[in-house]
Amino acid sequence: MNSVTPIADQKKVGMVSLGCPKALVDSERILTRLRADGYAMSPDYAGADVVLVNTCGFLDSAKEESLAAIGEAIAENGRVIVTGCMGDEADAIRAAHPQVLAITGAHQYEDVVAAVHEAAPPTQGPFIDLIPQPDVKLTPRHYSYLKISEGCNHSCAFCIIPQLRGKLASRRIDAVLREAEKLVVSGTKELLVISQDTSAYGVDTRHDVRQWKGRAVRAHMTDLARELGQLRTPAGETPWTRLHYVYPYPHVDSVIPLMAEGLLTPYLDIPFQHASPSVLKRMKRPANEAKVLERLKKWRNICPDIAVRSSFVVGFPGETEEDFRYLLAWLEDAQLDRVGAFRFEPVEGAAANALPDPVPEPVKEERYARLMEVTARISAAKLAAKIGRTLPVIIDEVGAPDEDNDIGATGRSQADAPEIDGNVFLRNVPASLAQGDIVQARVEDADAHDLYGVIA
Ligand code: SF4
Repeated sequence: MNSVTPIADQKKVGMVSLGCPKALVDSERILTRLRADGYAMSPDYAGADVVLVNTCGFLDSAKEESLAAIGEAIAENGRVIVTGCMGDEADAIRAAHPQVLAITGAHQYEDVVAAVHEAAPPTQGPFIDLIPQPDVKLTPRHYSYLKISEGCNHSCAFCIIPQLRGKLASRRIDAVLREAEKLVVSGTKELLVISQDTSAYGVDTRHDVRQWKGRAVRAHMTDLARELGQLRTPAGETPWTRLHYVYPYPHVDSVIPLMAEGLLTPYLDIPFQHASPSVLKRMKRPANEAKVLERLKKWRNICPDIAVRSSFVVGFPGETEEDFRYLLAWLEDAQLDRVGAFRFEPVEGAAANALPDPVPEPVKEERYARLMEVTARISAAKLAAKIGRTLPVIIDEVGAPDEDNDIGATGRSQADAPEIDGNVFLRNVPASLAQGDIVQARVEDADAHDLYGVIA
């Protein structure tokens, strides 16, 4: 919590943060910067001198949600600044909400901070600026997103991220490691490494070398993973570290032994998007998926507990029933642990919109349902195989005692990333259990997505 002594007329900023974890990290950075400038955070609209809405502009549905959030902030407070991905569509925002005070795009930290200064000039208390403050975090204290780069060098046909966020721009590895260390020292038990393409980290800087703890480290995914595996919490434990948005380039093989050694969480989030070679080609996907099944097998031999999560798009233009069946058969072989699926939706400005042979909506729906059925069955079987095992579980939430004085808790195993994967529901936990504790839990039951158990 903020330890600054409040001063009477300190200006307060409210924040509505929409979109993906990367946008959440942007919100944290903006708020950290604003707090350093002497602002306080307001938990509600009423107490805020100005409200920031960090928007998502990826899909049409996200844009609608962003416009609705801006409308709500205007109705509730009236003084609204818009930032984030949808900020690139200032005309559309102004057409819907002419009252907004300012609009800035994604990563324009300086601009958004300047807009806040103009809308609600800060009350400078000299002592505020002198007190070192922890960074503002919008996730619970026990897990943190660690953003290693911005932008993307690929040009997948359905995606406008490169237009919105530009080419790959990697952060210095010493800066990333310093941030990770700081987070772990201040209570983070789980680091979630995010970017648009984690495997490509450092390609733009030619993997530049920096000094870290007396060692030369490259801006490269394998060096990053190895160094993150050296971090320890104040209690001397290895924090959980998950790699997200990993493309299966060959060097991914070299991080699997770190998972087997317990230095890296045995979890890989690989956005395959499809399996049919012809669909992948039309999607202009960067990776060659042909050898992936073989590699999955190899990874599981090295680290049997590795959980692989992925996402898929069904109904991409030109996807035939044969392509779709190829995908289903591939999923049966791949036996992925966690799968998210999306029905293809055209995104304004994406190359895929010009492709012929759109898949009719009812066909998309039907394929989506078939895919979910297959992946739910695979997931249920994989989770059922965990019944009787004892697994480490990180606690996200501890409930209140029920009428029998039984306290329940919700946590996650190493196979579950927050927000996107399943949960482990624990019964009969001690009242002393706290958010962020990592306990050994015995699994008693499972369904298609979650596990149920007790502390061992
Ligand atoms: S890899 Fe493809 S889908 Fe991912 S951000 Fe880059 S262009 Fe978009």
